[in-house]
Amino acid sequence: MAVIMDGKALSAKVREELRLECASFSAKYGRAPGLAVVLVGDNPASQVYVRNKKKACAEIGYLSREILLPQTVTEAELIAVIDGLNHDSLIDGILVQLPLPVGIDESRVLRSISPDKDVDAFHPENVGNIVLGKYSVLPCTPAGVMALIREYGIEPAGKKCVVVGRSNIVGKPMAMLLLEANGTVTVCHSKTRDLAAECRAADILVVAIGKARYITADMVKPGAVVIDVGMNRDGDGRLCGDVDFSQVSAVTSYITPVPGGVGPMTIAMLMKNTMTAALTHAERKAND
Ligand code: NAP
Repeated sequence: MAVIMDGKALSAKVREELRLECASFSAKYGRAPGLAVVLVGDNPASQVYVRNKKKACAEIGYLSREILLPQTVTEAELIAVIDGLNHDSLIDGILVQLPLPVGIDESRVLRSISPDKDVDAFHPENVGNIVLGKYSVLPCTPAGVMALIREYGIEPAGKKCVVVGRSNIVGKPMAMLLLEANGTVTVCHSKTRDLAAECRAADILVVAIGKARYITADMVKPGAVVIDVGMNRDGDGRLCGDVDFSQVSAVTSYITPVPGGVGPMTIAMLMKNTMTAALTHAERKAND
């Protein structure tokens, strides 16, 4: 039976460390780190994510600001709001909750966030820095996966790592981080010819495709490490991952559950990025 990688416990540990760090930050600089979350429209899933982020900020002691904009907001108006936050000295991190309404160019909006306040690490400057291996913030979900891997003493160096999914927010940066950790990395996607064979070759398999229980036990090498990024609802409305947990956990050495695996790590890494940004801003101001 596999070791279940407990993202909930590790996330709580990271957030507790940040709570202590936040107290010393506030004592030293006379203010708390600040995170602004911009939400456009009334997507119920986005509202839940924003609420969770606000709760995490409150627990750690960060200043959190929520900016709610109507579905009808124009791209120019949204960018003007972001520009205001870029110049706000109490705000260290800006997060624009995706998806944005049709008609708003997501990449133009993300590019309007100042790179040093881009706590999602989606700005092209930050993406480029990750490719070059010289970064200060990492995208939250892949960073959370790496933190889990390290916590359980798993060493990607020299291992065959397979990432299924090539999105800009998960698959691609995930592959870069495993490569940086000296894994031998293969990235699979919907056009991959023999996905099962690629997956079976993996010592470390990371799945981020958004398809409920798609990866079955016959697609996994016995003893492999399996990280399930997926968050789906099955036919009965239950939350589940991209991996068929009940079957696959019988053959792997380590596996993340859904819920309670990668999900809680994502928010912990967002909180960590906010602290990193706050320290950069505070030190820059102190040296001015
Ligand atoms: P996405 O943008 O929709 O990308 C999905 C990727 O999976 C694409 O690259 C796609 O290939 C590939 N794919 C789809 N079906 C496939 C198949 N049958 N075989 C092989 N590859 C396939 O999704 P995402 O934003 O990366 O999210 C993926 C999943 O992770 C979703 O369930 C999402 O909810 C979840 N997620 C969780 C967290 C968290 O905090 N736990 C954070 C972010 C995302 P093509 O490129 O060829 O289309």
